[in-house]
Parts: sequence; structure tokens; C-alpha cells
Amino acid sequence: MFPNLDPEIVKQDFPIFKRKVYGKPLTYLDNAATTQKPRQVVDAIREFYQSYNANIHRGVYRLSIEATEAFENSRAKVAKFINAKDSEVVFTKNATEALNLVAYSWGLSNLKEGDRIVLTEMEHHSNIVPWQLVSKYTGVVVDYIPIDEEGLLVCEELDRLLSLEPKVVSITHVSNVLGTINDVKEIVAKAHKVGALTVVDAAQSVPHMHVDVKELDCDFLAFSGHKALGPLGVGVLYGKRDLLKEMSPFLGGGDMISRVWLSGAEWNELPWKFEAGTSSVADVIGLGAAIDYLNSIGMSRIRSHEVKLTMYALRRLSELKDLKVYGPKNLDKRSAVISFNLSNIHPHDLATILDEEGIAIRAGHHCAMPLMTKLGVAATARASFYLYNSENDVDILMEGLNKAGRIFKI
Ligand code: PMP
Repeated sequence: MFPNLDPEIVKQDFPIFKRKVYGKPLTYLDNAATTQKPRQVVDAIREFYQSYNANIHRGVYRLSIEATEAFENSRAKVAKFINAKDSEVVFTKNATEALNLVAYSWGLSNLKEGDRIVLTEMEHHSNIVPWQLVSKYTGVVVDYIPIDEEGLLVCEELDRLLSLEPKVVSITHVSNVLGTINDVKEIVAKAHKVGALTVVDAAQSVPHMHVDVKELDCDFLAFSGHKALGPLGVGVLYGKRDLLKEMSPFLGGGDMISRVWLSGAEWNELPWKFEAGTSSVADVIGLGAAIDYLNSIGMSRIRSHEVKLTMYALRRLSELKDLKVYGPKNLDKRSAVISFNLSNIHPHDLATILDEEGIAIRAGHHCAMPLMTKLGVAATARASFYLYNSENDVDILMEGLNKAGRIFKI
């Protein structure tokens, strides 16, 4: 057994925590939006620009060879991290682009009027709008699995929608608002039984828990590097090799071709067929360093740390009368994302008061407007934790919330 993770020791690897916000220590609780970067990631990016900055794949000179090796080495790290083959890992700009890639490249060629797509009411806009666009272009019908009062998917509705034999089931692994962890493995198995293609939005799961694409058996899976300690500007699409092979490219240009004539072109091998133009080389290398860092801590230690911290946070938050927490009560079914509303204080006012204390939380619709409608609110406040957050951060949040309560006289 590994010892428990000590967030105060982890914090020392993150230079940003040395800074002050309005003279106060930074209490960063917006990890579902993006995470802070350890020194190791910043160093890997700096090292690239300082020592071997060059474009990749085309150069035969030393710098380009080193850059290409480091870039492809990062792909191998990502592949191993999620248990995929290297050729099944496509680098994109972010999770959003990865989901759009599937919707456009697979969806537009394989879906026709009258076909059905199943999503859930808890999706991020990134996993709604691309499919709405596909619906607009092809006439497919989009169905949504509803959620219950606790923020869990209604199983009977899932089964009913599957009985209509949809062509695609695209669901979030973990909700960025409710923290709900969906049983993706079971949903994928059920979807496959009716012949549906499965897409998993893993933006909020891959950074926080062990995710194995072979175990889930999903056809596609998307996530963003910046929510997993990596740099902004790089995301990942995993796709089963046979599917990626059959699909047309998403974007055309350099790097994604093997030959071009005036009358046409031949595509490059996987995964480069889907990586048109110059990639974010430094960012991909930075993502490799982030994965090394996560591996050095261990995903199961990160998950158990977050479970304990979420339990502590939920207990402390329950001390506040008039505070409503959204999402599942069962800790096995929720991640370290806690959305809440305090009395009738607008979440933006709350976030502004907390900001004065150096506390960063998110307030708004969290790019999940249909979910806000379902919850009957315009916005929520959201605190989301990661490996460097401690019980002390939760206590500081509580002091801030108490201060807001005093200001608004609740
Ligand atoms: N899906 C979920 C569940 C998310 O939380 C997010 C980011 N908030 C995204 C997709 C989109 O990520 P990105 O903006 O990095 O593309």
C-alpha cells in the first residue's frame, strides 16, 4: 500500500502557489475549468523552446529529430496512460475539438435523416452542440437521457432510448457540474448490444481516476490536457483503430497526407491522418511531462485523496444553513466537483466575495445550460478539487462563505 498523498508536499511542485492574491495565499478551487501546472511541466516546455525547438516529422536535422522523438514519446505516454495503442491516440486542440472530430468525420458520413443519437441532460456544451450541428446537416434526432433529483441518469429512460436503436450514444464520464460518475462501462456494453457507436467525454475523469479504454470498450474517448496538469492547447481523441482507419480526415493540410496531386490526395497513416498542420509540439511534450507527474503520484492515490476531501467538504458545507449542494450523495458516484448555491446570493456575487480572500471558484452555467434549466437555476457556484487541495483549502472556503453570509445577512 502506498502512503496517503500529502497535498502540502504536492503543492511545493506548483510554482503558482508561491504567489499571493490581494496579499493572501491562493486557494485554487477551479480545477474542473483548468488545473495548475507543476514545475516539471513548465520545465519540459521551456526546455523544448530553449534547446530543441523545431518543426516535427519533416526535418532531417538533429533538432527536428529530437522534437519529433519527444512528440511521439508523449503520444506513447498518453497511450499507455489510457491503455490504448499509439496509433489510436490523436492529438487535438482540446476535448471539444476531439468530440467535434468524431461528430464531423464519423457522424456526417455515417448518419442519415431519421437516425437517432443519445446524449444525456448533464452534458457539457462540447458534447451537445457538435451533435446538434450534425442533426442540422443530416436530420438525425437527438435524444437525452434525463437525470433524477440526485443527478443520476434515469436507467429506465436509458433502456427505453436504447430500444429505439440509436446509432450513437455519446455521454460524459463525469459531470463537470454535478460531479456524477456515470457507469460508462455498463452503458457502453448496453449501447453496443443495440449496435450503437459509443463516445465518452472523459474531460473530467481522465485527470482524476484510472481510465482504461479497453476496459470501458468505448469506441471513442476525448479529454483535455489542461485539466490534467498539462498545458492549455492540447487535447486527446482516442479511437478504435478500425474506426479511425475507415473515417475521412477532419481537417486537410500538411502532415495528414502521404501524397498530393493536383487532382486529389492520399491520407497519411494513423494517427497523423487526423493531425493536419503544425501541431502544438511544446504542449504535447508538456502533456507527456504531466502524465509522468500523475504516474509518479498514482491515479488511485489521487482518487482516494479526492474522495476523502470531497467527504470533508460536503460535511463542512452542510454546516451552512441555506446552502444547497447539487449532485449524488453517494461518494462512489461522485467526483471532487461540488456545485452549490448559498441562499439567494447570486453565484457571481459569491465568487467575487471569495476572490477578495484569494479563493478561486467558478460561478455560472459551466457550459451546461440545459442542465441549469433542469436544475431550475440560472447558475451555480462550483468548487472543484485536485491533488494539491487540502482540508485547509476547504476551511478557507468555509470562512469565505461565512463572510458572504454575513454581508448578505442570511
Ligand atoms: N466536457 C466536459 C465534461 C468538460 O468539463 C469540459 C471543460 N469544462 C469540456 C468537455 C471541454 O473541454 P475543453 O474546453 O478543454 O475543450
